[in-house]
Amino acid sequence: MILETPLPHLSAIELPTPFPVGPVTVYLAHAPGEPLTLIDTGPRTTETEVALTSALAELGHTPADVGQILITHAHEDHFGLAADLVAASGAQVLSHGGNHMALEQYESDQEQRHRFYADLLQKAGVPLEIRTFVGQATGGMRRFARSVAVDVILNDGDVVPLAGHDWQVLYTPGHATGLVCLYEPRNRLLISSDHLLADISSNPVVEPPLPGQRERPRSLALYQQSLLRIAAMDVAQALPGHGPVIRDVAGLVRQRLEFHRKRLDRIWQVVRRKACTTWEIALALFPDCGPLDTFLAVSEVIGHLDLLEMEGRISGEMIDGVQTWRVAQR
Ligand SMILES: [Zn+2]
Repeated sequence: MILETPLPHLSAIELPTPFPVGPVTVYLAHAPGEPLTLIDTGPRTTETEVALTSALAELGHTPADVGQILITHAHEDHFGLAADLVAASGAQVLSHGGNHMALEQYESDQEQRHRFYADLLQKAGVPLEIRTFVGQATGGMRRFARSVAVDVILNDGDVVPLAGHDWQVLYTPGHATGLVCLYEPRNRLLISSDHLLADISSNPVVEPPLPGQRERPRSLALYQQSLLRIAAMDVAQALPGHGPVIRDVAGLVRQRLEFHRKRLDRIWQVVRRKACTTWEIALALFPDCGPLDTFLAVSEVIGHLDLLEMEGRISGEMIDGVQTWRVAQR
């Protein structure tokens, strides 16, 4: 489905995905004299590919016409089809360095993530039978994307001409380590990808360390910094990666920060009562958490534990390979 945006040469295209999040919105910049540019592609499924091809046709183009693909972050629902589109068109791929490994070496990056998450869930105290189930479920993501070479690395502050306007690249890590938003100051438009969504609080999922680094990024802390950054900007409309356009960016950011503050408080209350593992905290917060939600629940708790630890309120100790959290002794 094609949706209008405030700019005549920028179209929003809603594409189906097989994921619980529902459709993904990609953007097509089609100003004369510029390479035809797709911002995100949708996942690698036949249904998505058919929908994208027919939307392009409606706008007078074919997949072979695509000259550039800008990937906002390396999640399957946003870049899965990129390699196939490049094969069809020879398009240049632009993305942030934080996505480089996941895009160019998707399969081995997935293997590495798999091991990292297995270890993370073990340290969190998740029982073996649930960990085995989670491992099998997440392995199935691989068919929704293929590795794609990145031709141009985008950095914060870079300017990309799209749809007849100059867009600033904003590096806003959190939801994904390499996530970028695009800002167009004249019309005060923000392409916010999954950084800010109207209906869903975008989960800043725990991720492995970036190449060359030892520590994993503190995803939720980074996410909150990135939220504050865009809340301080003058944005008339944010065009997101899923769901409706956002008009009150600062208000939505306040709402998201308040949500995390309350959750932080609940986790603090659990740890204050007694020392516990990450998994015990996840169960206290999400008692009905099914095995499929395990990873997201643990990731959510870890994000908040990071914040409490950074504030010096709690400390962790490894006991028999499992992290136990307690109130920090000051
Ligand atoms: Zn995402």
